[in-house]
Amino acid sequence: MNEKSFEAVPVPASVTPLRFDAERCIGCLRCVEICPMDILLPPEEKGLPPRVMWPGECWYCGACVMECPVQGAVTLRHPLMNQASFVERDLLGTSCHKG
Ligand code: SF4
Ligand code: SF4
Repeated sequence: MNEKSFEAVPVPASVTPLRFDAERCIGCLRCVEICPMDILLPPEEKGLPPRVMWPGECWYCGACVMECPVQGAVTLRHPLMNQASFVERDLLGTSCHKG
């Protein structure tokens, strides 16, 4: 019988919604299970962060970040056009603070 193997390759996208910190991630895969869009797959090697297979289909709901038991193991990064920058203005026009 012929043995077949398959390799999962992430679909290219112009966005990178998730950043994993491999030093912090404990490979529990809770983020994979909670994702409502099923865009994550377990890693090829146990203990590594998950793979983002369909980055363009992320809803930016944040469920993966909220479910993660390790702070900073996964970070959500919104597309550049959705990253708000607030500018606090002094209505008397004397100073300006950017935050
Ligand atoms: S932000 Fe939401 S849709 Fe995107 S990977 Fe996380 S859980 Fe899935
Ligand atoms: S939930 Fe957090 S610690 Fe667990 S696999 Fe995902 S990023 Fe890693």
